[in-house]
Amino acid sequence: MANIPYNLARVQARIEAACKAAGRPENAARLLAVSKTFDAEAVRVAHAAGQFGFGENYLQEALDKQAALADLPLEWHFIGPVQSNKTRSLAERFDWVHGVERLKIAQRLSDQRPEGRAPLNVCVQVNVSGEASKSGCAPAEVLELCATVARLPRLRLRGLMAIPAPAVAATDRRAPFRQLRELFGELRRAGLEVDTISAGMSDDLEDAIAEGATIVRVGTSIFGKRTP
Ligand SMILES: *Cc1c(COP(=O)(O)O)cnc(C)c1O
Repeated sequence: MANIPYNLARVQARIEAACKAAGRPENAARLLAVSKTFDAEAVRVAHAAGQFGFGENYLQEALDKQAALADLPLEWHFIGPVQSNKTRSLAERFDWVHGVERLKIAQRLSDQRPEGRAPLNVCVQVNVSGEASKSGCAPAEVLELCATVARLPRLRLRGLMAIPAPAVAATDRRAPFRQLRELFGELRRAGLEVDTISAGMSDDLEDAIAEGATIVRVGTSIFGKRTP
């Protein structure tokens, strides 16, 4: 816990250095602090050190943390898999949902987003090559899904998200991120007003930023190793 402010500063420095190395503005990629499995107190410490956006994977855990931190002006991002039975809580309690991979889920999120709130920010998850899990829509389907999601009234399509497998032995560590960037380019050329590539974690944020990531989702390098 005592290391969180120091770790945050280190990660911010990595992000700035990676942006600079890529010839991008230093603030071109922003940090989402992934607080899953860490308690509300850890989030509070990170917020006191200047962190504003937090990512969570597990709904009930996130709701408990939000309740404990209701006094803070935090931005909550859901980055876990989205099942139909979770959409109402996500639509009501979160600012962003990163893992939208089917139209049915997007439709429910739009229908269930409360009228009094801004449209829910969403990213469509893509299964880029080397994806660890089977989640995410196929690259060939991204454009059509995004075009449909962009028309849903209570959602704001922000862009694409991916979780490439750890590229330990890969010869081209940037390949999946490059594929994501190319798909993002297709969306833009089709006239969709997207501004977000959500990719890169503790071990590969530099590779993601080199290929245009605008949000990196970092847990371990800020909060430490997760104990299951
Ligand atoms: C856990 C998780 C992260 C953070 O991973 P670290 O390696 O701890 O930085 C990022 N994105 C998603 C979708 C995650 O589930």
